[in-house]
Amino acid sequence: MHDDRTLVEARLKRVLEERIRPAVYPESVPLTVSVWTAPGEPVPVAEGLAAPRSPIAVGDAWGAPWSTSWITVTGTVPEAWAGRTVEALIDLGFDANMPGFQCEGLVYRPDGTPVKGLNPQNQWVRIAAPAAGGEPVLLHVEAAANPVILDYHPFLPTELGDKETAGDKPQYRLARMDLAVFDETVWQLVLDLEVLGELMAELPADGARRWELLRAVERALDAIDLQDVNGTAEAARSCLVEVLAAPAAPSAHRIGAIGHAHIDSAWLWPLRETVRKVARTAANMTALLEDEPDFLYTMSQAQQFAWIKEHRPEVYARVKKAVADGRFVPAGGMWVESDTNMPSSEAMARQFVHGKRFFLAEFGIENEEAWLPDTFGFTGGLPQIIRNAGSKWLLTQKISWSQINKFPHHTFLWEGIDGTRIFTHFPPVDTYNCSMKGSEIAHAARNFKDKGVARHSLAPTGWGDGGGGTTREMVGKAARLRDLEGSATVRWQRPAEFFAEAEAEYPKPPVWVGELYLELHRATLTSQARTKQGNRRSENLLREAELWCATAALRTGLAYPYERLDRIWKTVLLHQFHDILPGSSIAWVHREAEATYAGLAAELEELIGTAQQALAGDPAADPAGGRELVFNGAPHGRSAVPAGGAAVAVAGPGDCSVTAREGGGFVLDNGLLRVVVDGDGLVVSAVDAASGREAVAPGGRANLLQLHPDFPNMWDAWDVDQFYRNTVTDLVGTDEVAVHGEGPAEVAVRVARSFGSSAVTQTLTLRAGSGRLDIDTEVDWHEAEKFLKLAFPLDVHTERYAAETQFGHQFRPTHTNTSWDAAKFEACNHRFVHLAEPGWGVALVTPSTYGHDVTRAVRADDGGTTTTVRFSLLRAPRFPDPRTDQGRHRFRHALVPGAEIGDAVREGYAVGLPERRVTGSAESVRPLVELDQDALVVSAVKLADDGSGDLVVRVYESGGGRARGRLATSFALAAAVPCDLLERPWEGTRGEVVADGDGVRLALRPFELVTLRLTPAG
Ligand SMILES: [Zn+2]
Repeated sequence: MHDDRTLVEARLKRVLEERIRPAVYPESVPLTVSVWTAPGEPVPVAEGLAAPRSPIAVGDAWGAPWSTSWITVTGTVPEAWAGRTVEALIDLGFDANMPGFQCEGLVYRPDGTPVKGLNPQNQWVRIAAPAAGGEPVLLHVEAAANPVILDYHPFLPTELGDKETAGDKPQYRLARMDLAVFDETVWQLVLDLEVLGELMAELPADGARRWELLRAVERALDAIDLQDVNGTAEAARSCLVEVLAAPAAPSAHRIGAIGHAHIDSAWLWPLRETVRKVARTAANMTALLEDEPDFLYTMSQAQQFAWIKEHRPEVYARVKKAVADGRFVPAGGMWVESDTNMPSSEAMARQFVHGKRFFLAEFGIENEEAWLPDTFGFTGGLPQIIRNAGSKWLLTQKISWSQINKFPHHTFLWEGIDGTRIFTHFPPVDTYNCSMKGSEIAHAARNFKDKGVARHSLAPTGWGDGGGGTTREMVGKAARLRDLEGSATVRWQRPAEFFAEAEAEYPKPPVWVGELYLELHRATLTSQARTKQGNRRSENLLREAELWCATAALRTGLAYPYERLDRIWKTVLLHQFHDILPGSSIAWVHREAEATYAGLAAELEELIGTAQQALAGDPAADPAGGRELVFNGAPHGRSAVPAGGAAVAVAGPGDCSVTAREGGGFVLDNGLLRVVVDGDGLVVSAVDAASGREAVAPGGRANLLQLHPDFPNMWDAWDVDQFYRNTVTDLVGTDEVAVHGEGPAEVAVRVARSFGSSAVTQTLTLRAGSGRLDIDTEVDWHEAEKFLKLAFPLDVHTERYAAETQFGHQFRPTHTNTSWDAAKFEACNHRFVHLAEPGWGVALVTPSTYGHDVTRAVRADDGGTTTTVRFSLLRAPRFPDPRTDQGRHRFRHALVPGAEIGDAVREGYAVGLPERRVTGSAESVRPLVELDQDALVVSAVKLADDGSGDLVVRVYESGGGRARGRLATSFALAAAVPCDLLERPWEGTRGEVVADGDGVRLALRPFELVTLRLTPAG
């Protein structure tokens, strides 16, 4: 037979597009349209409904950026349409390709009841089926003129990302606003032909099935009268019945599809718009669930449910009912889909605590899967946190975005730094926005790496990022793919059912040990430095607030601020969303985030101050007029002040000195550390007195600021591409190198430089009794597309280094042997990186920056190895925020020569949790709990969230070894119970936790965490 395949395929494409799809709505009449535009921010629904309207017509411009227009459409169903299905078609001026990235609407009935959301893939509103002739139609649309930020020419700088700079030029023109007859037969024919045509394109050209489909499609096209598509659609469909009925092969890949809309809690839109986005999508999805009995939908992020509950209670009522019916499925058990690289140990834990608690309280549902489809990499600390939250599974597809290496598994056990293993699935469809296209289904089946031993994968299905969700077309296609020869099978499935089935069929999955590093978006560890520092400051202040408020509650009866802490935690958790903390949102989001963090800091300082004053007592009660107490919120004792306690300040003698250095510069010495700063303000020597060993590599200069051009190929705020390193400028020119402080307790040298349009001032400080050189850096940053690094070339020979993560640290190579090693050219640390040879090491600690890189070089002259650690201070991408990081910044870094891992842990906490001085009458404040083993670190002291008055203490093994110790309480202890993160009795196995009088004996595995609920006696 002659090969006419391409001819028939081209015919299908044209006839579908030009004749069949337009025939879905064979008749229409225009609606009458009027509008009112809210003057500023969105108004309450009642106000929008009641506002006076002005006429507007199809073709008219509307919608200044970020404005809201209330559009009213009215009309009458023509008498001739009686008995037919009638829909309103409302096209706000959509671009078909970008649902969620442009204008959107929510449709209301005249009484204010929400009907459904409008987006380019969902423009219809069902009026009646069957319609009565003469029926009046009246609908209102709350239309949001969200501007397009990510356009067809993506990553171009734009002022549209903040309403303060976006201008008032209308963004859209009203397009179709009609009442129309919906021909369901033609609509079904479209789906038949799409499914078969898309499947056909994926099948081998020499296989019989492809040709069977081609001939059936050809017969269907022959059966259509192009002048009467509506009259002949049924006949065309009948030509396709047989090929649609042929069942899938027994070995076919099995896809569990779950309706979904990935909704970024903020990104190319502000938080307030997400509040409306989730309502629109939830309105659509609850409506679709009513129309489609087999369909199931899942939504993650407790925060988004909470927004609907607060702002759109009518939609929430529909959600609640659908959840109770088991068809709208809460997923993930987290407050938001957060970043996981940067949140602290406690914050990562609280994401699950607050998420799971919300779903339990609202729906009685306990999620057992962590749902993070779009998060930019996963730390080795996360598996233990997931398990301690009472969960056991993880879903993400993001690692498929890695630039270099293809991950070897789709279903596997993921083992964290402590040995906890979590059953993990990466959907092989490689997207969280599956739309049931044949190419996606075939890709999932072909791509699945675990063929032969496993057969199931999950496909989150629906328009996402900016919301939208699943469409009736996707549901229609899924129905045809249920059991279809040549295709993977598709059925709607809840995430938990998928995981249970996948786990059951795969008893010995492969194991991946350590972090799931995303080989992309590495600059999200640095962009928007003020947002990141706001997060870190909030985490530190929350630690202190919980500690001192709990101490004051138990000691003085001061009321514990449960509600305020709960609200503050949720705000911090929201801002850890995977486009806020990573710095990849529009200017508006980061501007608001900085203001929010400032407000939280003020509130937390007030809580801390009140609690500490209550503990310190009234200075007036002291005959001497009060004494100064030093409070230590860090988990290790310092300056004779116990961890979690306070003591009267004692000024030590101190023997710090600073002397001029021959040839320029200064020598700083405190008996523990001797630091030489050269005439360029760079550290050329740092000798740890205990060992006599030099930390700085021969010929190296530490504290060196380096500037690189930084213009990635795409995703400006997200990405730094490897080639940035090819060009570098060492910032060695100085405006000033001078002694800045001189006294026995403290000596400091100040270094000022200017470069480009920017200036930097650094203060290098050595304090009595401390083996740490503190470097405070203030930058007035006015560069574009540059990357600023702070380098420390160290004389250490090691193949790997440690970087702190949640509840421990993870190791990364210092070399680039494999493509996997080379790809980690920018990575995350929390408070320290640590490098060591046997018996001696160096730590670099910081409360300021997360991004860093570590490289090695062998010196020609002495054959020794220089290992260089560089912190990533600032970037200046111009998309999506055209002025990212411009202005003033402050950073703190510190060099700790001679540090073991325990020193790195201790100094990491100390540098971010300074002592606080309060004048009172007490002689001291005894800590509530004390540990006698340094490797056991307290990560939280708080009152139990249930209001029982129990004390909750979380402890982890911080060194990566085994640790035994005793946690002593300074109050009479009635009971001590190991708990999960939600403060419920722990039911799994765990290291030794034994009550021992007024204390608990602990024996923990490497990096093991344990949460204790301690009930005071009486
Ligand atoms: Zn996302």
